Amino acid sequence: MTKRMENAVRKARQAKCHARSLGGRRYEVTTPRGHRYTIRMEMRDGQRYAICNCAAGTANQPCYHIIGAALLDTAITGCPTRHPLQRTL
Ligand SMILES: [Zn+2]
Repeated sequence: MTKRMENAVRKARQAKCHARSLGGRRYEVTTPRGHRYTIRMEMRDGQRYAICNCAAGTANQPCYHIIGAALLDTAITGCPTRHPLQRTL
């Protein structure tokens, strides 16, 4: 994991983002401030990718929203708990 990813993981733990499934590997994450973001998980060549529609996510920066979504995705799909790579739309 890169330093930026580590920071994102720590922030997700601290922020206690709430994630819920929207079906079809789409997740909605609600931050403690009430902001909602939609995250989509995709598999490509065995690697999990996460696409978040927040400002950082759309700028191709690691964001902490995808971590909550990844944990839920793992619980639902059994996908390994590897940190997803972030990519833009
Ligand atoms: Zn995000």
